[in-house]
Amino acid sequence: MKARTRFAPSPTGYMHIGNLRTALYEYLIAKASGGDFILRIEDTDQKRYVEGATDIIYNTLKTVGMNWDEGPDIGGNYGPYIQSERLPLYQEYAHKLVELGGAHYCFCSKSEADEQKDEEMNIKFKDPCLHISLEEAKKRVAAGEPYVVRQTINKKGKATFNDVVYGDIEIDYDELDEGVLLKSDGFPTYNFANVVDDHLMNITHVVRGNEYISSTPKYNLIYEAFGWTPPIYVHVAQVMKDAQHKLSKRNGDASFQDLVAKGYLPEAILNYIALLGWNPGTEQEIFSLKELEQVFDEKRLNKSPAIFDITKLKWMNGCYIRALPFEEFHQLANKEYDTFLTREVNREELSKVLQPRIETLKDIAETAAFIETLPTYSDELFINKKMKTDVGIAKKSIALAIPALEGLSEWTNESIFECLKAVAVENGLKNGQVLYPVRIALTGLETTPGGASEIAAVLGKQETLTRLKQTA
Ligand code: GLU
Repeated sequence: MKARTRFAPSPTGYMHIGNLRTALYEYLIAKASGGDFILRIEDTDQKRYVEGATDIIYNTLKTVGMNWDEGPDIGGNYGPYIQSERLPLYQEYAHKLVELGGAHYCFCSKSEADEQKDEEMNIKFKDPCLHISLEEAKKRVAAGEPYVVRQTINKKGKATFNDVVYGDIEIDYDELDEGVLLKSDGFPTYNFANVVDDHLMNITHVVRGNEYISSTPKYNLIYEAFGWTPPIYVHVAQVMKDAQHKLSKRNGDASFQDLVAKGYLPEAILNYIALLGWNPGTEQEIFSLKELEQVFDEKRLNKSPAIFDITKLKWMNGCYIRALPFEEFHQLANKEYDTFLTREVNREELSKVLQPRIETLKDIAETAAFIETLPTYSDELFINKKMKTDVGIAKKSIALAIPALEGLSEWTNESIFECLKAVAVENGLKNGQVLYPVRIALTGLETTPGGASEIAAVLGKQETLTRLKQTA
């Protein structure tokens, strides 16, 4: 069967990592079956609407390469794909549902309805309007009395349904609230709109957070009343910050945009979140989106919550940085250089030095800060047993290196390296006794990305000699 899945974000102006993961699983289920991935904007909660938020959704999906087959911007056979443009549809279906006995008109004021809520503000609504005959209710509606369409839940016993991740689920009908489906302003609630849209859009699989499990029997009652077939349900476990806390904007946790701003590559983020809640059943951890399309199987989704592990993401991002074609890495790194480098240096050489050594693009400014400004350091740094250097040897080597480097016409990593090696040989010194002190003099740091000749190549001849002369 060709799957039709939908990603149905609300335009909140923020792409939560858990939402992006849901989108990814939806996308993979569709693509693994040669089916379609649909984008639907759920903007019926006008209080939550944020200007420009749909662009964030579009841009995020495009950036990670999850292209949709139908959606607000490209259309399709099942549009419109923005819920606020579908209001007449929800109204039509809400009235139909009343006729079918799956809902009723309710004329209680909000405060009257609130009075019926239990202490936890869960509505166990025993709606007095249930006793109004349909005929009378319709008259009151026609007369212009404000009303909502409220779900009627009169079944007893247990609702059962199957979920791909959690298996067979049973929920007491008594636990379901008679929630509002259509508000007095004519807007649907999520609880109604999702069912109408998923049916009308021929959605085969619904992937969403497991917080929706307890409401699913209510949706099934709506499907049943209309005589529609419910979709296959795939409820996914939460993404957690730690064992107790959900990853959420309220806790100041990262969104997709925040992670990109922190120097993570979109492909790495996507790869990481694929594994947050799903496992391939093999040791493989690095997957491109294309590879995921081949191997993804929703039966391997995990029931237990996934903890967002930034250390693991960092490691994975490092793998992606190293795998980038050099030119691509250099382009990304160049943008970072612009933020802190005023000095004219050989940026290509710098990128060569950094690419194998950093984990996020934001590591660049810190790792390469010494290129812009030589840190102050103590002479003790020249003492190194392994390199057989002390302050005396270091100063002597640097003094010998200066004229040799001054005479060098070609300034490359290789030519500098050969030149410094020759200085060592000609003066009866070990390579390390020249290379190590030169590296310290150029960087002021014990550990650096790259060796003496690589750093000299980055700095250029003039700055290299200036730094060496400062030390000698
Ligand atoms: N708009 C809902 C949300 O953002 C979608 C849930 C669903 O996929 O049904 O949580």
